[in-house]
Amino acid sequence: LVGRMRGFGTTIFAEMSALAAATGAINLGQGFPDEDGPRGVLRRAVEAIEGGRNQYPPGPGLPVLREAVAAQRLARYGQSYDPETEVLVTVGATEAVAAAILALVGPGDEVIAFEPFYDSYAASVALSGATLCPVTLRPEGGRFTFDPDELRRAVTPRTRAILVNSPHNPCGTVFTRQELAAIAELCVDRGLLAITDEVYEYLVFDGVEHLPLASFPGMRERTVTISSAGKTFSVTGWKTGWVCAPAPLVAAVRTVKQFLTYVGAGPWQEAVAHGLAHETAWVEELRRSLQAKRDRLIEGLESVGFQVFRPEGTYFVQADLRPLGHDDGLAFARALPERTGVVCVPTQVFYADPARGRHYVRFAFCKRAEVIDAAVARLKGSP
Ligand code: PMP
Ligand code: GLN
Repeated sequence: LVGRMRGFGTTIFAEMSALAAATGAINLGQGFPDEDGPRGVLRRAVEAIEGGRNQYPPGPGLPVLREAVAAQRLARYGQSYDPETEVLVTVGATEAVAAAILALVGPGDEVIAFEPFYDSYAASVALSGATLCPVTLRPEGGRFTFDPDELRRAVTPRTRAILVNSPHNPCGTVFTRQELAAIAELCVDRGLLAITDEVYEYLVFDGVEHLPLASFPGMRERTVTISSAGKTFSVTGWKTGWVCAPAPLVAAVRTVKQFLTYVGAGPWQEAVAHGLAHETAWVEELRRSLQAKRDRLIEGLESVGFQVFRPEGTYFVQADLRPLGHDDGLAFARALPERTGVVCVPTQVFYADPARGRHYVRFAFCKRAEVIDAAVARLKGSP
């Protein structure tokens, strides 16, 4: 491996899912559901394929999906985006993050990201030639949060953008109004762009509300908002995402996107448009069932002896290994499939310095109740 990607090997998700396949272990590692999305959404994709809509969609994405995204942002958050110029369809949130970073930052720039961070952020920042500057989320009162002073100190004259993921993978934190206001004020004061990853926007628990950073004062004009269909409609394999931002920012991101993939697949776009417009009740049921699965997994992990952080959103529970007498999550996660038949993800790979996250592992609860129960039973059998 040469150039800017030197040092980036195989993603932890690929490694752990391969280990699950090789050992027959229950895979609570990579976050994907084991039940299908809404029938209506699946049927639309089949209809689009069988109806002959199989050639390149337009570069910015099918108008029907751009309109559905704009309508969803308006109905859910009161945010107004022009589907013609302010919405761009991408190949999942992953491409959206990469294209946004490649479009908006470059060599010599610094990008702040809350650590632990989703693994593609560091790779995208490296590809751009910029430097990633982590601000660490630490447990406080049972949830992971940041120190506003530390965030402020991380900003330098070179800082160009801040990457914000809420609901947060892997910590499960949903940033509060106060936390987001602190980030927003800093962005406005210091003239920073914000890139927000909101792929878990619907998957929030216990009445916690997801607030888009772009809805804070002064933020709409400087925020690239990213989401995707994978989590909302349980179609992670469809890789259909989008960007909402002011027209000049969208134009910049589109310029990069057109040379990364040109366009994303068409049939999924029609189906996702249908989902955003018509499947809110299904998504609410998904949210409720995930909350119950979260509680089920937490109870199980606590009974095994992990110290568990109750997530406010997402698919994931962060667990501290130290009460079990372990302190290296990577070694633990690599040995666990053989030892107990369960796969998890070591969180240290989401830290700029793995030492800071050494004792955490992540378990996914987007699985059927019996799968969660079977995993817990295996963990109990051999702690
Ligand atoms: N961001 C976060 C925080 C994620 O957990 C994931 C994983 N799905 C993604 C982005 C990638 O989303 P997509 O599959 O739409 O590219
Ligand atoms: N977002 C999922 C996770 O965090 C999977 C992403 C991937 O495989 N790249 O587990």
